[in-house]
Amino acid sequence: MWLSNRTDLAAGARAAQGALTRRQLFICTAAGASLICGCGPDALAATAPDGAQALGPEVAEQPLIRISPHVHMIVAPGSFPSADNAGFMSNLIFVVGRDGVMAIDSGSSTRIAQMGLRQLKKLTSLPVIGLINTHFHGDHWLGNQAFAETFGKALPIHAMAGTRAAIEGALGVNWRDSMVGWTGDATRGTQIVPPNHDIDHGATFDLGGVTLKLHHYGVAHTPFDLSVEVVEDRVMCAGDIIMNKRIAVMDDGSFQGALKAFDALEKNSQTAIWIPAHGAAGADVLRWNRELFEGIYGTCVEAVKNGVAIDAALPLVLKDPRVAARASETNGFERNIGRYVSRAYLEAEESQF
Ligand SMILES: [Zn+2]
Repeated sequence: MWLSNRTDLAAGARAAQGALTRRQLFICTAAGASLICGCGPDALAATAPDGAQALGPEVAEQPLIRISPHVHMIVAPGSFPSADNAGFMSNLIFVVGRDGVMAIDSGSSTRIAQMGLRQLKKLTSLPVIGLINTHFHGDHWLGNQAFAETFGKALPIHAMAGTRAAIEGALGVNWRDSMVGWTGDATRGTQIVPPNHDIDHGATFDLGGVTLKLHHYGVAHTPFDLSVEVVEDRVMCAGDIIMNKRIAVMDDGSFQGALKAFDALEKNSQTAIWIPAHGAAGADVLRWNRELFEGIYGTCVEAVKNGVAIDAALPLVLKDPRVAARASETNGFERNIGRYVSRAYLEAEESQF
C-alpha cells in the first residue's frame, strides 16, 4: 500500500505539473495574458463547460494559519451553512512536503476552495499533488472542482470507496443542491467532482520529509470516515470524527462507533495536536469531544437500563455535568441536542439486545 501510494503520488505530481502548464497556456490564450496565477476565479469561469451555471460571488479571504511545521489550515468562520458565511463552515487543511502539497477537504463550494488555493499560493509555489475527502458530507468535498480545474483532472482525489460511491450517487446531487438553498444561492455553479482514487485504513503517503497515515475504525461520524495523521508533526486531522465547540449531526454515524474511534486514534498514534474539521485545533479537542459524547451516550445507556422513557432522557442528559459544562460554548447545541439524544437513546436501546 505504501509503495503503491508513493507511485500514485509521483504520477499525480507529474500530472498536476503538466496540467498547470497546459492551464497557464489556456489562460493566456482564452482569458488574457494578465491572468497568470492559474487559480483565479476568472480563469475557472473561462473553463466552465457550456451551459454550466455561473459561480456565485467570491468568498472573502481568510488567513492560512500554521499549525505545525508542515500543516497549515484556514479555520472556517461559520459553524452551519448560511447566506452570511456562504457555506464556509469546515476547515481547509494543507500539508506541505518537499514534493508537493496534500490538501485535506475542499469546503462547500468551488468559490471556497478557490479562496483556499489563493491563500496556499501565498505560502508556497509547490503544486497540490493530492486531495483527501474525509467523508461524504458536502462541506468536505463540494470544493473539489477548483482543485481539479487548477491542478488537472488527473489530480488524485482520495477517499474511501463508500465516500466516492455516495458522492457519485443521489447524495452528491442532494448535498450540492441543499448547499445552494442553505446559502441563499451563494454556492451556485459548483459542480460535482467525485473522488477518483479509493483509499482505506493504513494507507500512507510520503510527501518528502513528511508522512501521512490514514486511519479508519468503522462507523463513527459516517460509515466511511478517514482521519489523516501527519506523523512527524504529531498532528491528527480527524475529519468530523471530532469537533471543537460545535455539535455535529449524527444521522449517519454512531456514538459507540465514535467513542471507539477516539480510543483507537489515540492508541494508534502519537498525536499532540488534534485538528477537527470544525473549530480550532488544539491538544485538548479529543478530550473535549469524548466527554461530551460520554455525557450524552453514557446517560442514555443508564436511562435505558433503568427503564426511563426516551422523552425523559433529554433532561437527564442536560443535567449531566459533562454536557452542562459544554452547552453554552457549543455551536448548534440548542438546535441539535434533542436529535442527538433521541439517536443516542435508540442506539443504547439497540445495544442492549
Ligand atoms: Zn460531516
